[in-house]
Amino acid sequence: MDNDILIKNGMLMDGTGTPAVRADVIVRGDRIEDVGAFPDAKASETIDAEGLAVAPGFIDVHTHLDFFLTCPRHPQVMERWIRQGVTTIVAGNCGFSPAPILPEAQETVDKYWNFAFPSDGLTFEWSTMAEYFDHMNRNGLAYNVAVLTGHNVLRMNLMGMQERAPTAGEMSEMKGMLKESVEAGSIGLSTGLLYCPGCFSRTEEITELASVLTEYGAPLVTHTRGMSEIYDEAVKEVIGVAEVNRIPLHLSHHFGGLETGSLSNPLDLKSKLTNLLARIMGEDFTVKRQLKTMPAHFRANELIEQARQRGVEIGHDMLPWVCMFTSLLAMLPPRMCAGGFDKLFEQLRDPEVRQAVIKEKQTAVPKWPTWENDCWTDNWFDGSVFLGGFRQEKNRRYENMRLCDIARDRGTDLYNTVFDLILEEEGKVFFVYRFEDQTISDWIGAWAISDPNCAIMTDIVGVDYANPSPVSYGAFTKVLGQFARDKGMMTQEEAIRKMTSLPARQMQLKDRGIIKKGAFADITVFNPKTVKNCASFKDPHRFSEGIEHVLINGKPVLENGTYDTKALAGTVIKRT
Ligand SMILES: [Zn+2]
Repeated sequence: MDNDILIKNGMLMDGTGTPAVRADVIVRGDRIEDVGAFPDAKASETIDAEGLAVAPGFIDVHTHLDFFLTCPRHPQVMERWIRQGVTTIVAGNCGFSPAPILPEAQETVDKYWNFAFPSDGLTFEWSTMAEYFDHMNRNGLAYNVAVLTGHNVLRMNLMGMQERAPTAGEMSEMKGMLKESVEAGSIGLSTGLLYCPGCFSRTEEITELASVLTEYGAPLVTHTRGMSEIYDEAVKEVIGVAEVNRIPLHLSHHFGGLETGSLSNPLDLKSKLTNLLARIMGEDFTVKRQLKTMPAHFRANELIEQARQRGVEIGHDMLPWVCMFTSLLAMLPPRMCAGGFDKLFEQLRDPEVRQAVIKEKQTAVPKWPTWENDCWTDNWFDGSVFLGGFRQEKNRRYENMRLCDIARDRGTDLYNTVFDLILEEEGKVFFVYRFEDQTISDWIGAWAISDPNCAIMTDIVGVDYANPSPVSYGAFTKVLGQFARDKGMMTQEEAIRKMTSLPARQMQLKDRGIIKKGAFADITVFNPKTVKNCASFKDPHRFSEGIEHVLINGKPVLENGTYDTKALAGTVIKRT
């Protein structure tokens, strides 16, 4: 029988990080039939990869695309991932997943996590993880998708936004829902301990819930309880959870230790991070004040190293830009959300409450344990953050504007602008924090991802809003092109490893992230000389260059640079 596809004459970067070798790849059905030299092989389709590199399809290990993947527009809107070589999306990160969500919890999830929804809203046509998977497979998927189960949604199902520990009955129901989800194929548990209501949980709750994963050996993937001065305590907490339960740990966006107030003064943050770089890289950066920069981050790294020596498996991810995205609600004192949204909005209408909140924002410093200290895990506030996700016609002009400019436009202060916009948009606004200075941003991004245990990701929200982050267009190509090739920060083979076999191992995606006989035929063929990111915050809608061919499960999706939106070659990757 003839083979389906022969990729010949390419330089194989197989995902392991070893130097590229010349090799042909034969694809039959959804698998790789063979790898080697096959001058006489026949196939119905031949891709001549002379001068090109042949790699496993890239895995975006941390996204918030899960609610969007059910949208019929996703193959078009998400073209930018194909064009940076991505074939697999991991979703359900940071404590929020689209399932299991009971009908009574839908509204709460929508209000709190709306930035991950399609801009024209979402109708839940599923409740359990199995139903969500069936729904996606029935509708068709442009990508492979692996999904974590979120602690926050498990909690919302049973306890809404309440600040209290679960009863024994609720605990056992949460565990039951997690088990059912993992049995249906969810790949692990995620936490978002910065967010409500996850921030109201204590360590015991996470430890007990994660005990469900032990029999599967599935990972705990965690947005820790804050990324500020208590980052080391937050990391220590989840190391403990993983160690007790004998499961792997994955730290989402591992980057922490910035003191409260850093974001209230961007210049201060910039100088701190510049100092950090000077310390780490020995570069002659302009700012040389002797600041103890990000001490909690380095203390956390020591804890991670010690835990690894005790046998705990720990990985992490980061994006190659200095930026972060989250709900504007995360700027409020955590306890404000505890009574639900009607109560939150009522409080925000009260001028006295507003004054008290402003005072708290100006003085609160996260302390461990957070649950005994008003649940503050981070206290961010910054006039230079950018806002997005507006639904109200009158506010749409604020899309991607700086908070301080919006406040000026409205003739009020920063705090009251936040309160007013939360009320006007019923909480459904997100903010983006990013550096204007691309050089500093690039250096810090490069430093963050240079750790051999760091996988690459996009962490994307607001994917179909007017001004999306350039990360969604070029995180992977930036690492391959600008970082690996142009700056020589790592070999392209090593960059590929961080996008393929490393995340596949972290998320336990079997037979993915590697090119070898018998593995799934997720393949990205790119030009190592021209591959690059072209998007920036100023000009985000620019596809990456240099990705020539992409196969998902053996099906061509991108051929000679032409994308087939109708291929729908993806599938749900279920844990096995
Ligand atoms: Zn997160």
